[in-house]
Amino acid sequence: MYFIPRFDPRLKFECAKCGNCCGRGLNEWLLELYPVEVKILSEMGYSDLIVKYGEHYFLSRSKDGSCIFLDKDNLCILRKEYEWYPANCRIFPFSTTIINNVLVIYVNMDYVRKVRCKGFGRGAPLGAQVDNVLDALRDVGVLRDYFVVSPSSSEGDILSR
Ligand code: SF4
Ligand code: SF4
Repeated sequence: MYFIPRFDPRLKFECAKCGNCCGRGLNEWLLELYPVEVKILSEMGYSDLIVKYGEHYFLSRSKDGSCIFLDKDNLCILRKEYEWYPANCRIFPFSTTIINNVLVIYVNMDYVRKVRCKGFGRGAPLGAQVDNVLDALRDVGVLRDYFVVSPSSSEGDILSR
């Protein structure tokens, strides 16, 4: 399984469970949900905690700006109660985008710094953690719909197709 990487694969990362990426104190924080996740959360009885902007769905925020599912101990209520949480939470600090039907995996270091993520400099190199990202995307059906291409291919060639 291949992809186009846009991150330094040597950077070490292991989540320190600080909860910062769950939005506490971030006015611009938004967690986008995939359609299958909207369905799952609705079946859990949480449809009133999902907001829609245009064609996109997001989790609601608490008054302090954090995710509605972040508890006072910085733990995810969904993960704790259901052993399930959204793909975009599972893959952080990675993000993904689709260009010309090709999956691009990247790490937005500006955003990582902004949320004061405490996970860098420890754990396994990012390059060894991509399978987790692909698994999360497979779970929400994203890999079914898009090409994943070899990192040895020329990115310019692929993206200009
Ligand atoms: S769903 Fe859980 S992991 Fe995701 S942002 Fe909310 S609290 Fe954090
Ligand atoms: S900000 Fe970084 S270290 Fe903190 S919970 Fe999120 S991923 Fe983990």
